[in-house]
Amino acid sequence: MTQRIAVVEKIMDANERLASTNLARLNEAGVVGLNFMASPGAGKTSLIEETIRGLNGRYRLAVIDGDIATSIDADRAAAAGATAVQINTGGDCHLDAVMVQMALDQLDLHQNDILIIENVGNLICPANFQLGVHKNVLIASIPEGDDKPYKYPGIYQGVDALVINKIDLLPYINFDMDYFRRGVEMLNPGLVTFPISCRTGEGVAEWLEWITENVKRKT
Ligand code: MG
Ligand code: ZN
Repeated sequence: MTQRIAVVEKIMDANERLASTNLARLNEAGVVGLNFMASPGAGKTSLIEETIRGLNGRYRLAVIDGDIATSIDADRAAAAGATAVQINTGGDCHLDAVMVQMALDQLDLHQNDILIIENVGNLICPANFQLGVHKNVLIASIPEGDDKPYKYPGIYQGVDALVINKIDLLPYINFDMDYFRRGVEMLNPGLVTFPISCRTGEGVAEWLEWITENVKRKT
């Protein structure tokens, strides 16, 4: 038992060290890195598309797309105008710093200003693996339900920003926004939050403004 815990700790330590190396590479190249985490279907890829379209011409974007299989999301990011690298995790349910390191090797970081990493759709273990980015972003969505902060506290605790996607569906779904926000506030007081709809475009400007501020500050 103790032995097993020691091994897990070593793996996590190694991941943290490599994450620091990844972050140093981004800093050296002047790239701001964002890690997008969410459950499957929350709209990570749609938000990435909106972000690329919204910032095109102002900033150069690269996307690292983590998926269990297929390159559908990376293809969408590339079609929207980003340089996209696909990581197929071969069944693994999260990205780690090694996978990101290998993806970074395929990018010319000096030719980019922003790096978005689309993590594997999963609200549990992605929270435990630092990748080496400046900001961790969680994308929640209305159809998932208002109880998710209570059921998946770990991922809500560790993030720097929260996007609440698909707010255009609020009239059709029993989603108590006050209850949801109370849960978030309890776990992550003062968390910067963006209610948006990738479908209607509502709230997207405020989200883009936050990214722009981070790029100007080089976070
Ligand atoms: Mg996706
Ligand atoms: Zn996992």
